[in-house]
Amino acid sequence: MAESMKGLKRTCRCTEVSAADIGKEVTVMGWVQKRRNLGSLIFVDLRDRSGIIQLLFNEDEVGEEGYKKAATIRNEFVLAATGIVNKRGGEVNASLKTGDIELVVKSLRILSESETPPFPIEENSQTKDDLRLKYRYLDLRRPDLQKNIMLRSKVTMAIRQFLDEEGFLEIETPMLGKSTPEGARTYLVPSRVHQGSFYALPQSPQLYKQLLMCSGYDRYFQIARCFRDEDLRADRQPEFTQVDMELSFVDIDDVIDVNERLIARVFKEIIDIDVPLPIPRMTWQEAMDRFGSDKPDTRFGMELTDVTDTVKGCGFGVFTGAIDAGGSVRGINVKGQAGMPRKKIDALVDFAKGIGAKGLAYLCVNEDGTYKSSFAKFMTEDELRALVEKMKGEPGDLLLFAADKTDMVWTVLGGLRIEIAKNLDIIDKSKFNFLWVTEFPLLEYSEEEGRYVAMHHPFTMPMDEDLELIDSDPGAVRAKAYDIVLNGTELGGGSIRIHQNDVQEKMFEVLGFSKEDAYDRFGFLLNAFKYGVPPHAGLAYGLDRLVMLMVGADSIRDVIAFPKVKDASCLMTDAPNTVEASQLEELGIKIDIREGADE
Ligand code: ASP
Repeated sequence: MAESMKGLKRTCRCTEVSAADIGKEVTVMGWVQKRRNLGSLIFVDLRDRSGIIQLLFNEDEVGEEGYKKAATIRNEFVLAATGIVNKRGGEVNASLKTGDIELVVKSLRILSESETPPFPIEENSQTKDDLRLKYRYLDLRRPDLQKNIMLRSKVTMAIRQFLDEEGFLEIETPMLGKSTPEGARTYLVPSRVHQGSFYALPQSPQLYKQLLMCSGYDRYFQIARCFRDEDLRADRQPEFTQVDMELSFVDIDDVIDVNERLIARVFKEIIDIDVPLPIPRMTWQEAMDRFGSDKPDTRFGMELTDVTDTVKGCGFGVFTGAIDAGGSVRGINVKGQAGMPRKKIDALVDFAKGIGAKGLAYLCVNEDGTYKSSFAKFMTEDELRALVEKMKGEPGDLLLFAADKTDMVWTVLGGLRIEIAKNLDIIDKSKFNFLWVTEFPLLEYSEEEGRYVAMHHPFTMPMDEDLELIDSDPGAVRAKAYDIVLNGTELGGGSIRIHQNDVQEKMFEVLGFSKEDAYDRFGFLLNAFKYGVPPHAGLAYGLDRLVMLMVGADSIRDVIAFPKVKDASCLMTDAPNTVEASQLEELGIKIDIREGADE
């Protein structure tokens, strides 16, 4: 029968005792990790979030009743044990913090019993993800997840403390609001009072934080939950957490400065990593040209080389065709991999095709200086030599080329670069390479929508010197936007905001909103700008990703207490779920499920 606390107090966590406490009486409480019954002695490993302590039961100390009770203990029972800290009788367990001591129990309470859990509660569980997520409350007992969740708490505390010291105010903004465009679909919440009307869950607090600047709070932050209804690719969650901030009277360097110091502080304090400041900066253009990515992993080389001029007019139609169509030809040099088996090269070609390439041309520079290549027969000796030279190809190198629209060439080679580095295991995992990527394009053309869309969001300031291009060549306008990248992952991003009504109106116009539309959706912001608005800027980090990289987890699921799966459902609670007909009636909602809507 489960006993209750009845005034009993825990004196410490399981591993908050050590050899220095030998002889002391303590009371610990936790879960049974394992139990060994040796007849006259019973050993129990008791676990709480600090770790494990060994309990020793013998009848002399715990009494006949207590010993009988101890014999009923099973894994995951919850116990309270009071006893004397003793030097461990048996072998010292060096893998445990408390490996040289044990608690000789004088009194035991079984606070609750447990059924046999569906999977063992242990580190590095091999259990299938679905089962883990169905029983997330048990999964969360595992020491590796507990470590992640505890570190996450430390990270947010450190961030709060730093930002407080820097004069930021923590201000909450509404969850039930109006849609903010951050490029995803919005989650809607039906209004009961205003039937047929909907609140939008925030994709970010963007508009509210800008309004707070208009209201004079000058430095705001929030650890904010954001909601984006995206088709869940890879490692995304429909709700995620941002460390969101906004500052008034600043320019790019001010935002970068405070954030670099924030990053350095958090990494030092939490995982003892020194982040050398200043963090390097690279323009978007350079990042794309050198790495084929706007979030380059700079822990290794294999940079892209533009060979368009070198192969112009050569006999290989794939190259010249792409150039004639306005594209380019670029390559990467995979050092020392000329001997890569054909099968593996084919796998790289398939990978390239998987991310949009029409094909992939390769050339191996053999040790004897001859070439083995998928396209050599179309080119003269001289053309080949010039190409190899441009690629700085040496005997033993494998050269890979993509020819297409430049955007596609970047995507393909940028993707290949990462794939190959992973395959060859050449990434130094001990490195934390931070990078600012700046001067992003303001707009990108959406083929799907047949118009320009904001690359960041519509409130981002164009670069002063590019402003005049906004009508004639919108695609060429650069933005005062910056991303912070760590080891090839975008940790966060932000921008200087437009704070002039005419520029903001112009921006909406370029994005295809009529003035009416713009006022209908964002009138409150445009109106606020009429009453004295400070120049302002901000940034938001993805907290889940930040913590994931800090703990070295593979997925953001491992740093979120209750994550959802790919189709945005929760395997533990079965959300989303159907609701009572009466609830729908109250909201004035009729369900009309279209065929294929749930695919
Ligand atoms: N609201 C932006 C985002 O969610 C961040 C920012 O510009 O501050 O990406």
